[in-house]
Formats: sequence, structure tokens, C-alpha cells
Amino acid sequence: MERRNETNLSDIGRTATSVAEVVSSGLCIGCGLCEAVTVGRVPMHLTGYGALRPSIVNKFTRQEEDRILAACPGIIAESRLENAPHTDLVWGSYFSMNYGWAGDPERRFASSSGGVLTALGCHLLETKKADLILHVGPDPDMPMRSRWRMSRTPKEVQRNAGSRYGPVAPLAGLENALQLEKPFAIIAKPCDLGAVHRLSKIDDRIDRVCVARLTLVCGGQSRLGKSIERLNEFGVLESELALFRYRGFGNPGRIRVETRDGRAFEITYAEFWKEEGDIETRCKFCPDALGEASDIAATDVWPGANPTDEDAGFNGVICRTQAGKELLDGAVAGDDLVLGDSITPRQFDSFQPHQVHKKHALLARLQGLAHAKTPMIETVGLRLDKLAEALDADRRQEETSATMQRALAGRFSEPLPT
Ligand SMILES: Cc1cc2nc3c(=O)[nH]c(=O)nc-3n(C[C@H](O)[C@H](O)[C@H](O)COP(=O)(O)OP(=O)(O)OC[C@H]3O[C@@H](n4cnc5c(N)ncnc54)[C@H](O)[C@@H]3O)c2cc1C
Ligand code: SF4
Ligand code: SF4
Repeated sequence: MERRNETNLSDIGRTATSVAEVVSSGLCIGCGLCEAVTVGRVPMHLTGYGALRPSIVNKFTRQEEDRILAACPGIIAESRLENAPHTDLVWGSYFSMNYGWAGDPERRFASSSGGVLTALGCHLLETKKADLILHVGPDPDMPMRSRWRMSRTPKEVQRNAGSRYGPVAPLAGLENALQLEKPFAIIAKPCDLGAVHRLSKIDDRIDRVCVARLTLVCGGQSRLGKSIERLNEFGVLESELALFRYRGFGNPGRIRVETRDGRAFEITYAEFWKEEGDIETRCKFCPDALGEASDIAATDVWPGANPTDEDAGFNGVICRTQAGKELLDGAVAGDDLVLGDSITPRQFDSFQPHQVHKKHALLARLQGLAHAKTPMIETVGLRLDKLAEALDADRRQEETSATMQRALAGRFSEPLPT
């Protein structure tokens, strides 16, 4: 597969050369592709530090490991360039940007923000454009944890609505979906869809049967410790849980915990996020948290990224491909989705200041990894060199040297599974 390094690091930087090195350098996000490529022989497991990682890293065949390394988000991130009519330095290529929400009030209420992703999943099933939706939801036995789900009915899609703020491996279900040889859509994070895009170049089943790739704009994946801390504050054991809902039932909705013996606890979104918590290393270096490998990306639209109150539920909707445009048109015509006013890229900046900051800082951070001689992430079509120009020389230097110091101190390193 062709490789083109646009991060201008090819003279000093390099990517990991094995899955073991992706994991040990902290760049595994636990997407689950390792499990899919090995058809379940290498399952994902939850580490002692609350992250999902491949359970074994030295038992891949040569062919399996080559396939994983061609698509792994710890190695490469690549946008889909589909001749979209608009492009923006920060937000990438797009057909349209609008406010949006689910046409069905129940779906809108139950979902994370305005229910756009749930509405699109339901629309695809109802119109028989897809037979199933590969996405994620609560683990039925341990509802604080999340796992991949295959939803076959609109009701099931709605049951799995809502953001899940913790480790989850949606791509662990990818091979199961592909083997069915039936049209399906995937809803997953931008890094997961980056891997799907890369894999589509060597696995023609993806373009043949995956009819839509839908994502959420993503601020980062917490490790499980964040959820455990909240649970401890309630004085509840994980084994007692009947429900752990991170978002939804309002926008943003309250974090709600229910126990099997009938106790219930709630905290607000702001209380849940009072400390950022333990975010995955890969997220600090994420070259595409804005879903440039998707057909459609859904966002929150709170000024300054903070909800001031509960509201009826609104998303930002970024349409990135012709297939995405056709899906949006069909969903609006079928009353499954409502699209509101258009949104400009600069309005999006004001909704997502953290994303804009990270975009500008990214090249400097990756250079920090390269200077520390640890693996970095290759990027294609993500404009990191141009984005870095907006950062003044002092800030760039600070980002690079802070990253280098942390890398040299082993702050990103992880133990390998034994
Ligand atoms: C970890 C995380 C970080 C986020 N950070 C931001 C941010 O910085 N800025 C912003 O605007 N929005 C962010 N969001 C997105 C936001 O919370 C909403 O999910 C998004 O706006 C979609 O809203 P919706 O109402 O359409 O979703 P829904 O209709 O509720 O659908 C959500 C869909 O996403 C799937 N899903 C939920 N959690 C995950 C997960 N962890 N991994 C893969 N798939 C998942 C569900 O299975 C469901 O199909 C984040 C979401 C997550 C999960
Ligand atoms: S990020 Fe995904 S593909 Fe890469 S090592 Fe981790 S689980 Fe495997
Ligand atoms: S910030 Fe990037 S790497 Fe982290 S979970 Fe989100 S999309 Fe994946």
C-alpha cells in the first residue's frame, strides 16, 4: 500500500513496526481491529490500567500483522478525499454543515445530543438500505462497560443510543459484519473509521457491503478508571449495577446509575467532567478527531463546548461525501431527520475550541515524539503542516519539548500483555 508522510517527519520520525510496538509506545486506542483481523483468535482485553488492548501481541501471522499495520490508528490516519465542494483548514472537506436532530421526538430525547446518528441508523434499517448497524452499547452483564453491538431493528439502534465515555472496541465486530455479506452501516469514533478507511484499500468487502460510515466528533476516550471513580462516589459496586448511562434522555442528559436492588443515582454532565480524567495517549496525538474518514460526522453545538442547561437536543452535522449527502437527503425526505440552519466552520470553531487547539498543536506534538525517537503517527490528507503555521514559534517549541520530555520520561509507555 502506498505511504505518503505529510507530517514532514520522514527524515527524523518513524511509525511503529509491530503491534507490540504500537501498544508499548501508547498509541493503541483499542479499536478492536486486531480481534477482527484474527477472527477472534486475539481478543481484546481490559488491562489493569482500564484500557482495551489486544490480549496477545506476538502471536499474529505475518499476513495478519501486515494487514493490521496497514490500517491501525496507532500507525496512520488518513482522510477520505471525495471531491467535496468545500474545504476548510481545520474542518477538512465537506458537502454541507448544518444543525440537525432526529425527526422522532423519542429518538431525539433518548440519544446523546439531537439523535442524528440514531436517526440515520434507524432510517437505513427502515428503508432496507442496511440490514444491520455495527455500533456500540452497554455490556448487558456489566453496564458500566461497553462493547460492540449489531443492531438489526430501529428499537435496538435506539437502545444503544448515547455516548459511551470509556473504553470500547467497535471494530472487534467488523469481521462478523463483513462475513454476513449483507449491507451494513457502522457508527464509530473517528479513529475507528480511519482504520476502516485504510482497510477498505486492501479489503474490497468494505466498499461492497458497508453502505455508510457515521461518526461523532470526539474529544477523547477515557479509561475505565474515570467511571469507577464516579461509581465509588455513589458507594455502588460494579457487580450491583443494572444500568450505567453516560448521556442521553435529554441533552446532555444526566449520568444515571441504577442498581439491581432498586437504588438510583444521578449526576450532571458537568459533575462527571469536573476533571478530564485519564484520557488515552493516542487521543493526545489524534490527527483526526473530526471524522474526516466518515460519510457524516455528528457533533455537539454548545458555545465553548460546555452545556449551560438541558435543551431539546441539537447536533452539528458535517456531511463529507456524496454517499453522506444522499443519506441525509433520504432521511430528511422520510421525516427521520430534521436539518436546520447551516453552520460555518468558524461557528464550529467556537463550539469546539479544544479541537481547534489540538489541530494546531498536533504537528509540534508529533515532532516531540520523533525527537524522543519513539514512534509517531503518519498522516495523509490532514493538513498538519499548514495547521501548524497558525501556532507561533514559541508555542510550537513548547509543545514539542513538553512532548519530548514526557516521551523520554516514559509517560506514554505501556506494559505489554503477558
Ligand atoms: C468518547 C466521546 C467523546 C466525545 N467528544 C466530543 C467532542 O469533543 N465534541 C463534540 O461535539 N462531540 C463529542 N462527542 C460526541 C457527542 O457526545 C455525541 O455523541 C454526538 O454529537 C452524536 O450525537 P447523537 O445524538 O447523534 O448520538 P446518538 O444518536 O446518541 O448516537 C450515538 C452513537 O454513537 C455510538 N457510540 C457511542 N459512544 C461511542 C464510543 N465511545 N465509540 C464508538 N461509538 C460510540 C453509539 O453506539 C450510537 O450509535 C463525543 C462522544 C464520545 C463517545
Ligand atoms: S489501535 Fe486497533 S489495530 Fe492498532 S493495535 Fe490497537 S487494537 Fe490493534
Ligand atoms: S480523540 Fe481520536 S484517538 Fe481518541 S478516541 Fe477520539 S477519535 Fe479516537
